[in-house]
Amino acid sequence: MANNEESRGLKSLFDWFANRRKSGSPNSERQEREIADGLWHKCPKCGVLSYTKDLKANQMVCGDCGHHNRVDSDERIRQLIDANTWNPLDENLRPTDPLQFRDRKPYSDRLKETQEKLGLVDAVKTGLGQINTLPIALGVMDFRFMGGSMGSVVGEKLTRMIEQATQRRYPVVIICTSGGARMQEGMLSLMQMAKISAALQRHRDSKLLYIPVLTNPTTGGVTASFAMLGDLIIAEPKATIGFAGRRVIEQTLREKLPEDFQTAEDLLKHGFVDDIVSRTQLKATLAQLIALHQPLPTTTPNMVLWETMKLSSATVE
Ligand SMILES: [Zn+2]
Repeated sequence: MANNEESRGLKSLFDWFANRRKSGSPNSERQEREIADGLWHKCPKCGVLSYTKDLKANQMVCGDCGHHNRVDSDERIRQLIDANTWNPLDENLRPTDPLQFRDRKPYSDRLKETQEKLGLVDAVKTGLGQINTLPIALGVMDFRFMGGSMGSVVGEKLTRMIEQATQRRYPVVIICTSGGARMQEGMLSLMQMAKISAALQRHRDSKLLYIPVLTNPTTGGVTASFAMLGDLIIAEPKATIGFAGRRVIEQTLREKLPEDFQTAEDLLKHGFVDDIVSRTQLKATLAQLIALHQPLPTTTPNMVLWETMKLSSATVE
């Protein structure tokens, strides 16, 4: 009898907790509202709540588990470029609809809607600026704009930026994030791969440094071209990097792929990526790499250095 009563009491306690969870406490309701207002941010990886202002100060990297939240192009530029040194290039280059393509809606409508919603013209921002006082040409892709897909404008803007960098003898950094080529522009978007690669080759022939930074996700035509052509290739932790999607490869191979397939860590292990750098260290790392690759000052020509070295080894003998 006592046992029965006890269990009834326990049951009602469970019910009370269950109901409370269902209805949500006033506190959790307030929390939900504050998340919706953008005051708080819930980490999609570990679920920890952090104050959005603190998260932004930590470059949108979760302080608890190190998850790298997606960052838009403006925020990236703010994170990397010294204040008041950013000079955007080709801001008015606008996409057109040469194939009059239509899926669920016409491409031209889709472009207009996305442009109005995001205040962006297309999926990349390019410009010249300084990173810890060193001049660079920087391209930043924006995944919000049609999945960071590469159409004619992305290709043309990056090409023009690389050409400027070659002329001015600036290093190039491109922050990559892309779902691949923009299918609505058909072959014209595929051509961009060759165009950008050719511009990069001229940049390389001039003995200049190019560093792509692969962020989550970098896939398709971007991986198949400029994302993999760097002198040094940097990736953000846990970024998905690949060409075709996992499902397509599994179906073709009829084999289950390992869990860490197409992650930055797996690519590093197999030599496709040179280093994985946390976003909080990215600016300092890029600045250091660029400083190391600066040409020698013209006042110390290589010949003088060579003579000095010969002299120093002569004294040792
Ligand atoms: Zn987290």
